[in-house]
Amino acid sequence: MIVTILGSGTGTPSLQRQAPAYLLEVAGSRWLIDCGSGTLLQLERLHKPFHTLDGVWITHTHADHIGDLTPLVHAMRLPGLRRSKPFTIFGPAGFCNFFQNIVQPVAAPPESFPFHVREATEACSLGEVTVRSQIVHHSDRFESRGYRFDCGGKSIVFSGDCDYDPRLLTLAKEADLLIIDCSTLDANKVKGHLSAGLAGFLAAQAEAKQLIASHLYPIEQPEEERLAECRIHFRGPVRLAEDLLTLTV
Ligand SMILES: [Zn+2]
Ligand SMILES: [Zn+2]
Repeated sequence: MIVTILGSGTGTPSLQRQAPAYLLEVAGSRWLIDCGSGTLLQLERLHKPFHTLDGVWITHTHADHIGDLTPLVHAMRLPGLRRSKPFTIFGPAGFCNFFQNIVQPVAAPPESFPFHVREATEACSLGEVTVRSQIVHHSDRFESRGYRFDCGGKSIVFSGDCDYDPRLLTLAKEADLLIIDCSTLDANKVKGHLSAGLAGFLAAQAEAKQLIASHLYPIEQPEEERLAECRIHFRGPVRLAEDLLTLTV
């Protein structure tokens, strides 16, 4: 499995870190996890354009995670697009309603190939890949989900935005790679998000093998302080997410 970080940032505009999105390549398929603003251009930079995707897994519908979702659906109507494989967008509970009321009125889904919108279940199989999902605590307004992808004995887990939540421990248990919300330093922790120390604590409890700290708000302090707080509890390899960083598991 190969994951490329397309956006390691948040909803705060940043020239260094784009809004949240990841490209997961596994068993011959390409999936986005979240689709923040700028995602489509990042795919162009990688020479892996939007129309080669198999679909998207949306963790939740905050604006920073879905900014390029409507443009993606719109782009799929490219005249003459040669594509026959299905495209599926998965999201948390309420996502079908969100798609119907927010996305579809301004971006009609393509009709030249199968196009699906689904709400994620606890587990599903996509060929050789098993995808598990878990509700995590983030917003009081709508559901947020983390996703775990297992293939060939390896696993990658995306926490999505979340506060400390024991349910994430189950999802992230012994993950080969855990990409986790690490929004702030502990001193500036905000409700609904993990701070660096808590992210490290959770990764240690889950016995994750490698940690990528992502969803990084700009901070005044040196970025190394995030790593230092992560390492208070987590003793495995940890690094900060960077846009266009690729990792193989
Ligand atoms: Zn976010
Ligand atoms: Zn959020």
